[in-house]
Amino acid sequence: MAVDAVIFDWGGTLTPWHTIDGAEMWRIVCEPHFPDDHLDRAAAAHVAEVELWELARTEHRSATIFGVLEQAGIEPTDALIATYLREWEPHTFTDPDGIAVLRQLHERGVKIGVLSNTMWPRSWHEEVFRRDGVLDLIDGAVYSSEIDWTKPHPEAFSAAMAAVAMSDPRRCVFVGDRPWDDIHGAQSVGMRAVLVPNSDVPTFADAIPDAVISNLSDLVPLIESW
Ligand SMILES: [Mg+2]
Repeated sequence: MAVDAVIFDWGGTLTPWHTIDGAEMWRIVCEPHFPDDHLDRAAAAHVAEVELWELARTEHRSATIFGVLEQAGIEPTDALIATYLREWEPHTFTDPDGIAVLRQLHERGVKIGVLSNTMWPRSWHEEVFRRDGVLDLIDGAVYSSEIDWTKPHPEAFSAAMAAVAMSDPRRCVFVGDRPWDDIHGAQSVGMRAVLVPNSDVPTFADAIPDAVISNLSDLVPLIESW
């Protein structure tokens, strides 16, 4: 194979795409913990989260969920975090086709990486991968919550290559669902980029993926054809 490493986006790529109402999610998370003012708390958290994602979009600066809570004046108690994770859990399951692809790549000796624009700490992501039986298949992962930058900043992609001990971007393939962050970002550092399109994600006309697949099960035959 002409490919030594495949680096995946997480949300909407390794997990099936879900449309999530952020304001409603915060309302549900805050309700049991703030009986007197949960609507105000939820609104503050939602505003903070939107602001920090906007910073990622415009300046490629990363943020954390704890930064969101701090900005909203909400203490990250164990109980609140437990509610948060329980409400998010249905949206975290690895696509069964994704699990199969990770196994196939691993069997072929292809390194597997993850590069996610995420506010969650590594431990939350690793717990999700452990639950789904794929943590041991992942050779290296970069979560933007741990670095200064988000995709499409080149530093994010360089960190992901380093995480899987790769130095030649031409031997790496990036797989993602966002034309701007994933496809444009990966190609800008010299990787090939495969788009798994989602209906809700904004298009970016200048990003021409090297391939488009509708299902992750198409990935291994595609890479082998290269
Ligand atoms: Mg995504």
